[in-house]
Order: sequence, then C-alpha cells, then structure tokens
Amino acid sequence: MRYYILFGPPGAGKGTHAGAIASKYNLKHISTGELLRAEIAAGSELGIQAKELIAAGSLVPDEVVEGMIENAFNTIKGVDGFLLDGFPRTLPQAEALDAILAKRGEKVDGVISIMIPDSLVYERIAGRAKIEGRADDASPEVIAHRIETYHAQTEPLKEYYRNAGKYHEVNGYPGTIEQNRDRVLALVDTIW
Ligand code: AMP
Repeated sequence: MRYYILFGPPGAGKGTHAGAIASKYNLKHISTGELLRAEIAAGSELGIQAKELIAAGSLVPDEVVEGMIENAFNTIKGVDGFLLDGFPRTLPQAEALDAILAKRGEKVDGVISIMIPDSLVYERIAGRAKIEGRADDASPEVIAHRIETYHAQTEPLKEYYRNAGKYHEVNGYPGTIEQNRDRVLALVDTIW
C-alpha cells in the first residue's frame, strides 16, 4: 500500500484536487475534516465534542483524528493506497502516523504540498462559504484563527517531512482549477 499526504493551508485546493489524484492512482481519499463534519451531521458523541472546536477554527484533539485514521486503514480495502487530506496537522499527529504505519510495516511515501499565500486563503474561503455553507468558513475571525493555527501548528511539518526527504511542493495558484490540477498531477507523477 502507498500512503500520500496532501498538505497545505485552508483553501489551497486539497479537497478540490484530491479526487483527481485518488482516481488516477486508485487511492482512497480520506479527509479528516469531512469525517468530522459527517460525525457532526450524525449527531454522534464525537461530533458533539468536535463541533465547537471546529466552528471556532481550532483543532480537535490529536487522539480523535488519529483514531479515525487508524480505523480507516483497518477497514478500507480494495485500493492501492491512501491519500490523506488535512491529516496530519500537528507534529504529534505526524509522529503518531509514522507509528501507526510502522506497526503495519508501512511508511509515508510522499507529501504533496499545495501552497498559496494567506491573502488568497481569505479570498478562496469566502468564495467557498457561499457554496458549501461551512460554519468555519463564514466569519473572517474564524478564518484568521485557522490561518494562525496552520502557521503555528501545521507548518512545522514541512521541516519534519523535508528532513525525511518526503516533502514535495507545488503552487496552488495562479490559474484555473484545471491548470492547478494539472500542475498537482504532474508533481505526483514525479514522485509515484
Ligand atoms: P478541513 O476540512 O480539513 O479544513 O478541516 C475542518 C476542521 O476540522 C479544522 O479546522 C479542524 O477544526 C478539524 N480538523 C480536521 N482535520 C484535523 C486534524 N488532522 N487535526 C485536528 N483537527 C482537524
């Protein structure tokens, strides 16, 4: 099995391009944000706990998402690998992922990092809010907090994966969605 991480700030296009990558390489796309939103919609205990943190633009506890990821690895069959979107987001999550994979005799194969400037994060998320209606896309304060959280907690992972020789970066702008998708797919081709 192969394990790829889609990395980047909110609004970089991870969710937008994940489908094309996943179908080209027969990977299962797993978005921890989508899994959490499904828990909220279902009104589960986990969803109730996660709801306020997500609405505030804060991260949910590491153990919660680590459990979701391990559960997905254990239950999803019939694919050549996984494309993780929005996970890991903290150093402890990255270390936990390495440990989960090591137990299975596996490893992270590559990090596909899509980069956009902060100014574009606001623009894209404001546009997406009108279409998807996500609570955490609606307010400028919450978007600002998500950007802060990304820089403080998630961005250090660049160094972690660079040191491991697994970090690969591509610009998620400018251009149309199709042009950006083609750039991302071209990068994935080079590391496959
Ligand atoms: P996303 O759809 O990836 O933007 O995630 C939406 C929200 O879900 C984030 O702002 C966090 O509150 C939460 N979330 C998603 N993935 C993680 C993660 N790996 N660790 C902690 N919180 C997460």
